[in-house]
Amino acid sequence: MILLDGKLVRDKILEELKNKINNKNISFAIIQIGNNEASNIYIKQKEKMCENLGIRFKCYKLDENIKEDKIINLVEKLNESEVNGILLQLPIPEHLNVKKIVDSINEKKDVDGLNSKNLAKLVLKEEGLIPCTPKGIMSLLKYYNIDVTGKKVVIIGRSNLVGKPLANLMLNHDATVTVCHTKTKDLKEITINADIIVVAAGHPRLLTKDMIKSNAIVIDVGINRVDGKVVGDVYFDEVCQKASYITPVPGGVGPMTIASLAQNIYEAYLLQNN
Ligand code: NAD
Repeated sequence: MILLDGKLVRDKILEELKNKINNKNISFAIIQIGNNEASNIYIKQKEKMCENLGIRFKCYKLDENIKEDKIINLVEKLNESEVNGILLQLPIPEHLNVKKIVDSINEKKDVDGLNSKNLAKLVLKEEGLIPCTPKGIMSLLKYYNIDVTGKKVVIIGRSNLVGKPLANLMLNHDATVTVCHTKTKDLKEITINADIIVVAAGHPRLLTKDMIKSNAIVIDVGINRVDGKVVGDVYFDEVCQKASYITPVPGGVGPMTIASLAQNIYEAYLLQNN
């Protein structure tokens, strides 16, 4: 079994980017609404990445009861400003419409790749900014020379953030894709035939050893806190005995998401200055 080391690949990607970004005066803004504890940690990681690469960073921390039009006003100001990348930190409070806010971000500054225009481009296989976690998974597989062409890929999870964009990205790379979700009947019947299984459900120990074939490749996107420990969606200790490649949690997909964000900020800069 080989560990797919997201930290190693992240560091290689960031090192390469550092030379390209050098003195280009690139800037990135995050909009945070409220004070979600996990978001605070993720924002710190993004700030650190920017610091290391020489990207100017600003976080707009807004009150959790803020009205939608105020946030959209801020986005519009940032769209007009010199800022190269804009990201709405998710999740946001329920009274707000995520789609409306994300769609107000200029598509060339949408470094999370989540606005409708960028998602449409992904579906149509046109060039655009690609959501960070799915993009990171593809980069990790590529680094380890895992070609998805013709492979049976099963994705557990159909969110707009991970499952759906990843399914499209895999299709664009000629994989044969099956997407499973909470209404899927007999998950095991589907996962057992998969060459590559990606689990993005937010459910600890969802994927067990009996659900995979020998030498399957397993990508664990999940981040769950169990008894104060961060664990994924895969029952790692037993699945690692049967898989050929597997991502650890932490240290697999998470670091790759940050690497993809850095790449997207640079790509956004290029789109604006081509
Ligand atoms: P989500 O809650 O929006 O979607 C979860 C999906 O999984 C849904 O489509 C649901 O149908 C499916 N699902 C849930 N339980 C299932 C089950 N028992 N059987 C089959 N399908 C099931 O979550 P999300 O935003 O896509 O995130 C998924 C997980 O990935 C979470 O743990 C999240 O924290 C993590 N995540 C990690 C990163 C990273 O960088 N590592 C990035 C984004 C999300």
